[in-house]
Amino acid sequence: MKVFDEIESEVMSYARAFPRVFNKAQGEYLYDEEGNQYLDFLAGAGTLNYGHNNPLFKEALLEYIQQDGITHGLDLHTKAKREFLETFYEKILKPRDMSYVMQFTGPTGTNAVEAALKIARKYKGRENIISFTNGFHGCSLGALAATGNSHHRGASGVSMSGVTRMPYENYLGDDIDTTAYLDKVLSDSSSGVDHPAAVLVETVQGEGGINAASVEWLRNLQDVCRKHDVLLIVDDIQAGCGRTGSYFSFEEAGIEPDIVTLSKSLSGYGLPFAVVLMKPELDQWKPGEHNGTFRGNNLAFVTATAAINHYWSDDAFGKEVLRKGEYIGQRLDRIVEKYGDGNMTTRGRGMFRGLNCVSGELADKITSEAFRNGLVIETSGADDHVVKTLCPLTISDDNLKKALDIVEAAVAKVLKGEDVPEEHDFFASSEEELAVKSLAGAA
Ligand code: PLP
Repeated sequence: MKVFDEIESEVMSYARAFPRVFNKAQGEYLYDEEGNQYLDFLAGAGTLNYGHNNPLFKEALLEYIQQDGITHGLDLHTKAKREFLETFYEKILKPRDMSYVMQFTGPTGTNAVEAALKIARKYKGRENIISFTNGFHGCSLGALAATGNSHHRGASGVSMSGVTRMPYENYLGDDIDTTAYLDKVLSDSSSGVDHPAAVLVETVQGEGGINAASVEWLRNLQDVCRKHDVLLIVDDIQAGCGRTGSYFSFEEAGIEPDIVTLSKSLSGYGLPFAVVLMKPELDQWKPGEHNGTFRGNNLAFVTATAAINHYWSDDAFGKEVLRKGEYIGQRLDRIVEKYGDGNMTTRGRGMFRGLNCVSGELADKITSEAFRNGLVIETSGADDHVVKTLCPLTISDDNLKKALDIVEAAVAKVLKGEDVPEEHDFFASSEEELAVKSLAGAA
């Protein structure tokens, strides 16, 4: 670890929780230099929805490189970009009857958010943006202004303006509809909230602790936006690309955001890639106004095209995600029922779920114990109090069960001091046995 300690900046974060040197990965497996195998429930913080080095995309990538295909292309037209645009249109936008123009931004999520906020402000001629408590949108200054987390905000060094925070769903308790509050302040000329250009929202707050908004709340939010002539931006960087069981996380709610940001699993291979989708009339950019050297990662175009062709030509993959997600939900519910102290709860939807331990210390003990048993799993939330199950969507049923067994054993050990024997039957209830059988049957 010497060189990392001596040369690498203190800013490193995940490496602190998993102090190994990793050098190989395949599917849901990670391997360290000593040859130890881990199941990966971090999955690049939502970037590896299709697993590490997915062989289907690797083949396409190797072939492309072998043929001296363009690697870096600024925003030049290339064959790889054309094929990506055509595929995205044919397989994603057209079947959903969606009409969006695609902007290629710098290849990080935060840059896509910057571009989305800029175009919204430019189009509406207003500065203010509404974002939500516990929202996370990136660490560059514009996106950070819309991010809630004080740890990240504290590092900005400048004041961050142009954003008004509103309570996300359930922030003020289950009985208070926070979209009604938003409607009220936007209706009241003395509320002190400047008329915004846009509302920026995650349908499931990933870094904020797996807070999943209901379809009703999202629909109400869209209604409030429409009523007050405000654009709706869905930041689908973590929740999108299939994590919730549909390509876009907002499909279940049936809403039509004006702008959508995508990144993380968009390339399918962990290659940096980010885009902004916007309604055609919003595309008021002048040439090069939001520029960036790395807007043409052609290797990412190749793997993104392969990912869409393979997984999104029909709805079979989405159904698989829902099936596995249901199983994860049942297992987490069972853990809470068996070992919970009355405060522990489960959260999320699709394969975007978490165990809310309320205490960050407890969540940390659980993830550390899980890591000792071969599972790489992280926390999120204001106090890092939510254990986040973010495995590749392509994980095998056996490994999904194995990983959740490790989580259960870790909770049992940390909360009850119990060592769970290896042959322990984790599936006591018949309902869960059924879920397991259906997993086994479909494997
Ligand atoms: N938006 C959301 C919803 C995210 O979860 C993240 C990263 O976790 C970002 C934006 C920022 O993306 P990046 O880290 O690639 O800048």
